Amino acid sequence: MASLELKDLYDGYRDSKTIKLLSNQIAKEASSLSKDLKIMEVCGGHTHAIMKYGLNQLLPKNIKFIHGPGCPVCVMPKNRIDHAITLANMKDTIIVTLGDMIKVLGSEGTLQDARSKGADVRFVYSPMDTVKIANENTDKTVIYIAIGFETTTPMISALIQATINKGIKNLFFHINHVLVPPAMRVLLDDETNNIDAFIGPSHVSVISGSKIYDEFADIYKKPVVVSGFEPVDVMESVLMLVKQINESRSEVEIQYSRCVNHEGNTTAQRLNDKYLEPRESFEFRGLGEIPKGGLKLKDEFAFLDAEVIYKDILPHNTCQDHKLCLCGEILKGKALPNECKLFGKACTPTTPVGSCMVSSEGACAAYYKYGISN
Ligand code: SF4
Ligand code: SF4
Repeated sequence: MASLELKDLYDGYRDSKTIKLLSNQIAKEASSLSKDLKIMEVCGGHTHAIMKYGLNQLLPKNIKFIHGPGCPVCVMPKNRIDHAITLANMKDTIIVTLGDMIKVLGSEGTLQDARSKGADVRFVYSPMDTVKIANENTDKTVIYIAIGFETTTPMISALIQATINKGIKNLFFHINHVLVPPAMRVLLDDETNNIDAFIGPSHVSVISGSKIYDEFADIYKKPVVVSGFEPVDVMESVLMLVKQINESRSEVEIQYSRCVNHEGNTTAQRLNDKYLEPRESFEFRGLGEIPKGGLKLKDEFAFLDAEVIYKDILPHNTCQDHKLCLCGEILKGKALPNECKLFGKACTPTTPVGSCMVSSEGACAAYYKYGISN
């Protein structure tokens, strides 16, 4: 029997005939639309799929994608980077985080810059690797700078649990986990928004379930389809959204049913709820303070919270982005990366000016990578 290869799992979702068929069906369905349709893909992973496979070019003229705030690195404000750099500059301290985070510009540089000046900044692929770092460096303070959406929060909760259960005394946490629904709420509460429907983030929904989008269909009357990341997934999701609009429906539908259900991973949700809770508000770069937009350690775990322990040295200033950078407008779906004067000139992935060019999931990085300049 022939062995199964990785590509066997996704080949069907990249089949050009199926994509073409879906494109034709979308065009047919879209011919009945009474106005142009603007679909926001909240997630950076979808932005990349759209650009990589040129899916925007397969849509009729009356349907447009707009790119939302779906990358945790892109929405991280400078102040949080300044916190991380301040902690990195402390004596006998090791900072651990995920790769993209070390390239994001704070008010006076990046974690990478701090490292080049002697700070011990390391990145890991799995947060759990931090346990080994802490155990090998018991004479040092190890601080994990946690970043991500709902997708990766359970990994942090598991690391917090391991820290407590294993009695690790030198590992602390600076939590920057952000939540998708509060950001979507802020976008829709802005009366100038031009969002008609959403392609919902799928990895987030694997953990949280599609239930987190119910309010957008029920209260805001916006159709939502939770979509997979392959081109067939995205095109099928667009078709499902156009059908909802034509039939005057606003529902939460799951296209990515191979991984997502309404309730999500309740074990992971319970783990998160044990250690973390929503903050009063959290600043998103470009969107400002968002009520309940981020998570923090519960008060009973304040002994692990670097923000509490080092509160006297952490900076509290709010820093503005470069005045020509359109990240804020891009994250609200009001501008496209190639409308920025710095795009591809002063701002490239090797010389990022704004956060949307830093992260591999950022909209500007996607436009640059796939050569979309006009
Ligand atoms: S974590 Fe998942 S859902 Fe969030 S931006 Fe990345 S790919 Fe999208
Ligand atoms: S191209 Fe650079 S400067 Fe312009 S919006 Fe994107 S990240 Fe900001």
